[in-house]
Amino acid sequence: MPALIDLHSHSVISDGLLTPAELVAHAAAKGVRVLALTDHDDIGGLEEAKMAAAQHDIELINGVEISVTWRKRTLHILGLKINPEYMPLLNGLEQIRKGRHIRAEGMAASLDKTGIAGSLEGAYKYAKQGIISRTHFARFLVEKGIAADMRGVFKKYLVKGKPGYFEHHWADLEDAIGWIRDSGGIAVIAHPGRYDLGRTNMLLLMEEFRALGGQAIEVVTGSHTPDQYQEFAKIARQFSLQASLGSDYHGPGHAYIEMGRLPDLPHGCVPVWQDWPEIAKLHTDLH
Ligand code: AMP
Ligand code: MN
Ligand code: MN
Ligand code: MN
Repeated sequence: MPALIDLHSHSVISDGLLTPAELVAHAAAKGVRVLALTDHDDIGGLEEAKMAAAQHDIELINGVEISVTWRKRTLHILGLKINPEYMPLLNGLEQIRKGRHIRAEGMAASLDKTGIAGSLEGAYKYAKQGIISRTHFARFLVEKGIAADMRGVFKKYLVKGKPGYFEHHWADLEDAIGWIRDSGGIAVIAHPGRYDLGRTNMLLLMEEFRALGGQAIEVVTGSHTPDQYQEFAKIARQFSLQASLGSDYHGPGHAYIEMGRLPDLPHGCVPVWQDWPEIAKLHTDLH
């Protein structure tokens, strides 16, 4: 079943490599039947994705991945089934995108200081259609031969304590959950295993997230190990949170995992999609 479902993916509107229509076609080719497009802080790709989905027999879920600062750490909160016309959500995302421009200038200034010139223009060259992100700076650094690949960039640049890092305050957790929920959507903590929070803070986050109206966490994602699938399945149960599943696909050569390859949710998880009509329809189609 889950290879048919993918609730986390990116297009050129954020830092993916495929257009929304190409992404949907790719998902279809890999056997995905229910796909959420979840670009960082921008929903500008949803309309194109929806039209492509109709042609590829894919159920498109309107999504977004919101950048949040929680206790001085950056977290990503997915909004699934959001209403893309809900003004407070649109306004909130616009504020975050404005912040991204300011951060980009800070990042470029930091790189300038270490003798790497032209990164602002260089990064924006890769970010013509939507947000500006560290990924676009990373592509510039690879283009210039300053690092061999993306992984190499994020070891030596753009992360805390390294050239190109610039401290930034994203949306508050409470606001992000509020925009998502009030628009009719479901708030999901993306890839909790990536935050390096420590046990105490992780449990605190789960508690706070739930108290603020958060509903689910990603259990199976391209950036979790199989051990982490089990770990977060247990945490989801412990906090009565539902479980989500998504590849976090960013395009060919820039992916944690290919689409349609993720395993099923571990036994005992309550899937975030349990009552979704899109899934019921899938079952009907299959039988
Ligand atoms: P930003 O939201 O601008 O801080 O950019 C974060 C994005 O950078 C993530 O969504 C990933 O796509 C990318 N990223 C972060 N760390 C790495 C890494 N180690 N390797 C490849 N891409 C990364
Ligand atoms: Mn990304
Ligand atoms: Mn993320
Ligand atoms: Mn993502």
